[in-house]
Amino acid sequence: MRTIRAKTTCPACGFVNTAQTNYSDDSPGDGDYAICLQCSFVAIYAVSGEQISVRRPTADEEREIGENPEVQRMLRAIDRLDIPGRSLNALRNAGKRN
Ligand SMILES: [Zn+2]
Repeated sequence: MRTIRAKTTCPACGFVNTAQTNYSDDSPGDGDYAICLQCSFVAIYAVSGEQISVRRPTADEEREIGENPEVQRMLRAIDRLDIPGRSLNALRNAGKRN
């Protein structure tokens, strides 16, 4: 795992995530999935040079996210984490992901 410091704003809840942790030892790559720890929304990394941001997934990407067992396992694990202030956002966005 590798964690880098980069600010990204969740497109679903607006929370500013200040660090990005990747499963592998690589930095997040363009098109990788980005899961918001506040609301569990699955966004897509948009990486250009040193610039890292996240965007909403396209319809095709949403379908892929919904069918990806690894992402679904990660979401269940994140849902079990006790993150202060998250419960309201998680409830608000529960219907926005498949
Ligand atoms: Zn969020």
